Amino acid sequence: MSSFQPTREDYRSGFVALIGRPNVGKSTLVNKFIGEKVAITSPVAQTTRNRLRGILTTPKAQLVFVDTPGIHKPHHLLGERLVASSKKVIGEVDAILLVFEGCESPGRGDSFIVNLLKAQSIPVFIVLNKWDLVQKNDQKERVKEYKTLVGSDDWLIFCCSAISGDGCDGLIENISTFLPVGPYLYPPEITSDQPEEILLSELIREQVLLNTREEVPHSVAVKIDRIEQIPLKKKKGDFSKRTAVLATVLVERKSQKGILIGKGGTMLRTIGKEARLQMQKLINGPVYLELFVKIVPDWRSKPGRLSELGYEGK
Ligand code: GDP
Ligand code: MG
Repeated sequence: MSSFQPTREDYRSGFVALIGRPNVGKSTLVNKFIGEKVAITSPVAQTTRNRLRGILTTPKAQLVFVDTPGIHKPHHLLGERLVASSKKVIGEVDAILLVFEGCESPGRGDSFIVNLLKAQSIPVFIVLNKWDLVQKNDQKERVKEYKTLVGSDDWLIFCCSAISGDGCDGLIENISTFLPVGPYLYPPEITSDQPEEILLSELIREQVLLNTREEVPHSVAVKIDRIEQIPLKKKKGDFSKRTAVLATVLVERKSQKGILIGKGGTMLRTIGKEARLQMQKLINGPVYLELFVKIVPDWRSKPGRLSELGYEGK
């Protein structure tokens, strides 16, 4: 923990949870707020599995965003743990961003989430995300629809695009004023609370999600086996190093292993190459990545395996 503390007496800090259905853009918003990639995103629902904190430090406030997996109907033990971890977070934060798919009218599951939050007394900010996809002519009506859904003037509505960043600054400015006066909760220079190992394994999982189809994405977990610094030694007297990462991709079935490896290993090479490029950005240096694929039947229903892979039980 940094001993360096803000100089302003009216400095504010607090935890802000992003709640909403899968795929509305919660993780993309966190990355946009922070200005760095701390959460992985993909068009596949249920991309986010860990409760990840992204930290934004401004001259006025420190906002610790808690990215949640999203609230949906669970189908297996992994799903149950994801929903439970989203609900638990509601009681632990200073403000909530309730994120909706702004490019669509409210859906059936949406009032469930609204009512869940009405039972709490913390400030709630409504984000109508993906506003870049809403036609100008439809914007007024869309806001009205969500006003009706929410049924309360206490909750401010913000129209945002996590892709272009439109609306994000105003939102941050507003949330900041609602946080309690307080010191830095994290050292001001860090942007994520996750250990490097988790961030790296998530970058691999992201590429699996982006490159494979159907049953594979949800059956995959990634475990980092080793991270090592190895000398590059391109020429004499060169002491620069690169980071070697050895990781195992877990799947549930033989057919999935086949898809992941691909014809002549092409799929695994693509995943490895893309993940390596992302890792180099994160680490800010050269990376060597080696991937193994292992079949662990039914890992999503095994408590021991889930805990080992970092999916919390409570
Ligand atoms: P999460 O499940 O709520 O965390 O959703 P993600 O952040 O993983 O995003 C789901 C998909 O929506 C991804 O393909 C994103 O690129 C896309 N997306 C997120 N925000 C926006 C946005 O503001 N505009 C558009 N057009 N797409 C978005
Ligand atoms: Mg997410």
